[in-house]
Amino acid sequence: MVLKFSNTLTRKKEEFKPIKQGFVDMYCCGPTVYNYAHIGNLRAYVFEDILRRVLEYNNYKVKHVINITDVGHLTSDADEGEDKMVKAIKREGLDFSKESMLKLAEKYTLAFKKNFKDLNIKEPNIWCKATEHIPEMIQLVERIIKNGYGYDTKTAIYYDISKFKNYGKLAKLNIEQLEAGARIEPDPEKHKPLDFSLWFKGVGKHSNDIMQWDSPWGMGFPGWHIECSAMSVKHLGEQFDIHCGGIDHIPVHHTNEIAQTEAATGKKWVNYWLHNDFLIMKEGKMAKSTGDFLTLEVLKEKGFEPIAYRYFCLGAHYKSQLTFSFEALEGAESSLKRLKENIINFKENKCSFSNKKLEENYKEKFLEQVNNDLNTPLALAAMWEVVKDRELGNDEKLNLLYDFDKVLGLGMERFEKEKIKVSTEIQQLLEKREEARKNKNWGEADKLRDEIKEKGYSIRDMPEGPIIERI
Ligand code: AMP
Ligand code: ZN
Repeated sequence: MVLKFSNTLTRKKEEFKPIKQGFVDMYCCGPTVYNYAHIGNLRAYVFEDILRRVLEYNNYKVKHVINITDVGHLTSDADEGEDKMVKAIKREGLDFSKESMLKLAEKYTLAFKKNFKDLNIKEPNIWCKATEHIPEMIQLVERIIKNGYGYDTKTAIYYDISKFKNYGKLAKLNIEQLEAGARIEPDPEKHKPLDFSLWFKGVGKHSNDIMQWDSPWGMGFPGWHIECSAMSVKHLGEQFDIHCGGIDHIPVHHTNEIAQTEAATGKKWVNYWLHNDFLIMKEGKMAKSTGDFLTLEVLKEKGFEPIAYRYFCLGAHYKSQLTFSFEALEGAESSLKRLKENIINFKENKCSFSNKKLEENYKEKFLEQVNNDLNTPLALAAMWEVVKDRELGNDEKLNLLYDFDKVLGLGMERFEKEKIKVSTEIQQLLEKREEARKNKNWGEADKLRDEIKEKGYSIRDMPEGPIIERI
């Protein structure tokens, strides 16, 4: 079945054709690790996880790369302000050293990876850190300069956007209008306002003096955009299939990545650009930089299970804006709970009632939805039809649901009855009853069962042990 994606580059929904039959190379812009990821950021990674899973569901072998930005991202995406990592060091009262910077990056990288685990997001084949790819970045800058797209000033190596014919194509930028509206540049040597830094030069000239490397232009550090160009080219080559990120990356970061890479290689770089729309709060945007945001940990503290947030994200198409509210998350959690109850019931009450034609129809319907630009809301609807279908046996339902879960990633095979916490008193009664049963003292065991029942719990004896439920 045809697989289609909305390609930001062409603004069309296009049939996906990989460069190499059967293989897909995909790069996703990773986090700048100066703070915890907020749930908006995590929406981007849930979307990219679905994309990867859909590719795999279509039998592609996917090479998935995500970067970790641990240097060079300034508070404004357009090269202005303080280095975000330096700002975070001050915020956290750490001493101003390379060690603190690395420690900070490590802390937020680990927290980010924990978010992946909690949300059942597959880890990429390669995590790549900016600070571990400085030689590749320098080489790319050298190629850009050699091809006539870069120029040197006292404070930076800039990219000359006027030299790149299609600059701004991805975002359909109106360059003249943007330049007319630009503010006075702090660097008088910069040719045009939209030229951007490939390499920040010199100690004492920028906010970041602690993470600097030697280069053909003296000590300095890379610009944020060159990092993704260099790392993706290193790990996926000079031409690859898919590049993703949130829509905020279209006008600056991805626009600049394209300009740099294509200037260096002289070739078209990426074939499909996919972007997720934003998760917003009722009050507006969520900003990692202001610290005013919700994290997955906060949702967990409030008693939500992380997969409920995943389910919530799947309820909207990745290209639509999604408004977060706790009521909506509660709605997602109760649907997930219902799904769990059904699946546990199918597992416990095995019965086969095969209807090959119907099963094939459902598979086709599901595939049609996910292959149609990752339509997860309709894929969930197809999943619910299976759950409710009276013409299928529980075994067949489970087979279908587990198959769909390869894409949905809700962890259905691990769904099991929640182990409810009981008081020490009930726990002791349960243990006494187990002891009585072991000794075949059935009268005593029944008496204890009644006692437990009076206290509000029923017991089901299963081969694996007793299951206790609230009455
Ligand atoms: P950052 O760590 O800020 O570079 O962002 C990591 C990823 O999250 C990028 O792909 C961003 O485009 C994306 N992103 C940032 N904010 C949001 C949001 N509110 N909703 C969805 N995606 C977002
Ligand atoms: Zn990037």
